[in-house]
Amino acid sequence: MNLINIFWFRRDLRLEDNRGLKEALGMGLPVLPVFIFDTGILNKLEDKSDRRVDYIHGALTDMQQRLKARQSGILFLEGSPLECFNILLSRYEIKNVFCNRDYEPAAINRDKTIAEFLKTREIPFYDFKDQVIFDKNDIVKNDLSPYTVYTPYSRKWKDLLAPGDYTPSHPDISGLLKWHAAPVPALTQIGFRKTDICFVKPEPDVAIIKEYATFRDYPALDRTSHLGMALRFGTISVRECVTYALQYSEVWLNELIWREFFMQILYHFPHVVDRCFKADYEFIPWRNHEAEFQLWCEGRTGYPMVDAGMRQLNQTGYMHNRVRMITASFLTKHLLIDWRWGEAYFAQKLLDYDLAANNGNWQWAAGCGCDAAPYFRIFNPEEQLKKFDKDLVYVRRWHPGFENILTNPPMVAHAFARDRALDTYKKGLNSVRNQ
Ligand code: FAD
Repeated sequence: MNLINIFWFRRDLRLEDNRGLKEALGMGLPVLPVFIFDTGILNKLEDKSDRRVDYIHGALTDMQQRLKARQSGILFLEGSPLECFNILLSRYEIKNVFCNRDYEPAAINRDKTIAEFLKTREIPFYDFKDQVIFDKNDIVKNDLSPYTVYTPYSRKWKDLLAPGDYTPSHPDISGLLKWHAAPVPALTQIGFRKTDICFVKPEPDVAIIKEYATFRDYPALDRTSHLGMALRFGTISVRECVTYALQYSEVWLNELIWREFFMQILYHFPHVVDRCFKADYEFIPWRNHEAEFQLWCEGRTGYPMVDAGMRQLNQTGYMHNRVRMITASFLTKHLLIDWRWGEAYFAQKLLDYDLAANNGNWQWAAGCGCDAAPYFRIFNPEEQLKKFDKDLVYVRRWHPGFENILTNPPMVAHAFARDRALDTYKKGLNSVRNQ
């Protein structure tokens, strides 16, 4: 057996500008790329027609075809990462294992387990920063504590940014192990079905980015990048996005910084996964009315903007950001349903679902997160409609029957719901503050 290095693909499904892959290939030994269909993750997905799995499958197929043309290829394994590394060790003589870093608590634990296991065999495990421009303690306050407010974080992010942070890292893939790789296992082999997703290599659209600041808030125009899913699975590099943003739109750059802000929040404060960032908000007495939650999920609240948004989400796996804010505010404030219910529903449906961004934004909407909108800021869904979809183009597109108010009256009056929310939040917060 010849000595090789392993590169483990995870949320970085691309051959270009891939830091960990470049580092692996720079070590002189042939590199075998591997991908693990992690049954611990896949078995939890109830919908076997999950478009995200199909997207990953499409991205892997694209890479495999390109690698096969160079007599290389990815080795696919299925099972738990630990089982799969055991198999790898029984088949190959491995010098080092490389990958790109992940910041979700479950991924950190997984990597710790693998690194410890490899250590017992004297194989080093190297992880690299690739998913973000800055990670861990790259951006901290002067007293070295993490930022919990976006504006000073983003200021420091921009101050520290140097060209080397977003210069692409293109690997020389001629150094990959030459072997007769098998094709990507069919979706059915891993228990899933083909969906309507067609994998297309993502690319930033200059026209959209240039006019982002002007049009981004109008859901009918749909003029945002739609790169969320590509960033989630790493089919595009964040360095490429930042290069475009620096050239064409500071407002778009700010959104990319929000993404990193929430990732560093999750990294430094992993309790946010299931608890409020601000502990006092655990005392809000949520109503958690199941039938009302169901109406929200189905887009039958009687508020056109909320209902159109939920229908867009249910039909496509995407919802415009402005409408995500309105629907999340409606659930947590108007219906007083625990933000965790809404977060879980979005996690199930969003193609661009990302734990850090989803959790951070839900907590922002509910008022319990870091740098959250204050709890007394309650979106008026009718006013939002007048401001951002005054010609009703978006609501007609996703909810053509909305005008029939008799079959779909608002489930709760705005003024009543607003007062109830203010009262409930106040009571919850006072109850703990008076303790
Ligand atoms: P653009 O507007 O073109 O922005 C470019 C990229 O910047 C996005 O793709 C995303 O990676 C990042 N970004 C933009 N806005 C935010 C933000 N507020 N927070 C964090 N990153 C941001 N975004 C996700 O990527 N995954 C989620 O699971 C997610 N859940 C959300 C839940 C709620 C309740 C809300 C209000 C927002 C959520 N967002 C989430 C943020 C935002 O709505 C989406 O990133 C955006 O709508 C995706 O569309 P786009 O790719 O066209 O983004």
